[in-house]
Amino acid sequence: MTRAMNATETDLGTGWLTRGGLRPTRQRLALAKALIGDGRDRHVTAESLFEAVQSQGTSVSLATVYNTLKAFCDAGLMQEVTVDGSKSYFDTKTHDHPHFFWEDDGELTDAPADQLDIAELPDAPDGMEIAKVDVVIRLRRKATA
Ligand SMILES: [Zn+2]
Repeated sequence: MTRAMNATETDLGTGWLTRGGLRPTRQRLALAKALIGDGRDRHVTAESLFEAVQSQGTSVSLATVYNTLKAFCDAGLMQEVTVDGSKSYFDTKTHDHPHFFWEDDGELTDAPADQLDIAELPDAPDGMEIAKVDVVIRLRRKATA
């Protein structure tokens, strides 16, 4: 990797953290670079990000990765998408958009938002308002005929 590329990734990571009001500590910056350093949106689990930063030689615990991802969500830098009630994915794209969940691979990817049309939602119960609508479309391979 070239020095120039490293500088750019660091700038991107620092800018991103600053936007969320977070101090760019060494660990946060390592995670930020792995997440948005190439300028692309990304869906990660704590485990997949943990493996990615470890392979880059950053020593950080899985618990720290998980807690930092939570902090990124609290700062509005990421959103958490829960699948199956227990599996958390973290998305660098923070506006509402639909997802495909690939059951065979356990992968979460963006689904084309322009093809989604939610005509009506149920009324929220008294005293409640809808905070967010998560659309996760589960995919499985077609049975071969
Ligand atoms: Zn997404």
